[in-house]
Amino acid sequence: MEIEIATIGGYEEVGRQMTAVRAGDDVVIFDMGLNLSKVLIHDNVETERMHSLDLIDMGAIPDDRVMSDIEGDVQAIVPTHGHLDHIGAISKLAHRYNAPIVATPFTIELVKQQIQSEEKFGVNNDLVKMEAGETIDIGDSGNVQLEFVNVTHSIIDAINPVVHTPEGAIVYGLDKRMDHTPVLGDPIDMKRFREIGREGAGVLAYIEDCTNAGKKGRTPSESVARRHLQDVMTSVEDYDGGIVATTFSSHIARVKSLVEFAQDIGRQPVLLGRSMEKYSGTAERLGFVDLPSDLGMYGHRKSVDRTFKRIMNEGKGDYLPIVTGHQGEPRAMLTRMGRGETPYELDEGDKVIFSARVIPEPTNEGQRYQSETLLRMQGARIYDDIHVSGHLNSEGHYTMLKALQPKHLIPAHQDMKGFAPYADLAAHEGYDLGRDLHVSNNGNIITLVDE
Ligand SMILES: [Zn+2]
Repeated sequence: MEIEIATIGGYEEVGRQMTAVRAGDDVVIFDMGLNLSKVLIHDNVETERMHSLDLIDMGAIPDDRVMSDIEGDVQAIVPTHGHLDHIGAISKLAHRYNAPIVATPFTIELVKQQIQSEEKFGVNNDLVKMEAGETIDIGDSGNVQLEFVNVTHSIIDAINPVVHTPEGAIVYGLDKRMDHTPVLGDPIDMKRFREIGREGAGVLAYIEDCTNAGKKGRTPSESVARRHLQDVMTSVEDYDGGIVATTFSSHIARVKSLVEFAQDIGRQPVLLGRSMEKYSGTAERLGFVDLPSDLGMYGHRKSVDRTFKRIMNEGKGDYLPIVTGHQGEPRAMLTRMGRGETPYELDEGDKVIFSARVIPEPTNEGQRYQSETLLRMQGARIYDDIHVSGHLNSEGHYTMLKALQPKHLIPAHQDMKGFAPYADLAAHEGYDLGRDLHVSNNGNIITLVDE
């Protein structure tokens, strides 16, 4: 069976992930992501109304025109988890393919919300829910299957999809951390990865996220970030002024920890900002997380301001606002607080807790610097980096290679500089550049089996 892999997006950048696997006549697409920084660099770009080709020209979504060189029928579009760099282009590209979108329940719900906010295209692809641990047939040959393996990442309900073919399995390894004690959801299913590495024809190819390949050792578990957060929150238990926290809105496990520790130190947590309301509301509605029944979540400007006024009247010491703005995004809640645009007034000594790290990119670094400086000018004291990454460090990569023993390796989710540490690591494990280690660009097709 002929096997080809098209590296479409996310092979020259972090963002706009998209990869296609052809097994015989059947094609499966993994991810259709957005490169948000390419959108944000322009003022007031409203992607909802934009045409795909303009977004492709901006570098914001994958250039999927290479798909016309792939002979076969697209049978499924498979986003691996709900981060925007994996699902953010679905509303712009999926309608071009006569195929269902297959994903886990939380991811499907986020895809659905994104399709609903799309204003340019009618996206009518079927939305099919599939749980981690399940396998379905792809196409009519009876020879190709799609399996979801549970992984742990900084968003709930993440999986690594696997395409099983007579030539071996193709494992799409974006994005994960090896977490055996996650705060929400099940541990990573390493047992299944080891089985896949040994059964049938083994693993033909492994497409891997290189984000942290240059970092030594092991990425800590989310339970480590939780303990760190607890330590910080307990240390400010006696403070009776304002404490404000921020984290990734889609990081439901972290939001849950913040909510619980707020209560532990006698404060009422409240979620503020559009995306805080969106992600936590969705996770709670779908039963992924138990949040207090009286937990306030407000996204609209008016209800946020009303809540801030109530907090100022009743006393800042009774509340913990959990807000958007961990990267200093200009329109996010914390940045607005820094600029003094909300009714919440910071006083000398008030605490601002960043349960996040700055995404190392000049735009983020600059915006975060501005936001922090504005907060400091009002007297705020900053707690930073209470966080663990959602991506594998080098030891995790070694463990995955040992479990899967893939014949071919395809580094992804980085640019050429970002691939280098992974290529080094792979070379150390006996892979050879150009032979079985395939460093690729956007728009390439790699032929693995040709007959
Ligand atoms: Zn991710």
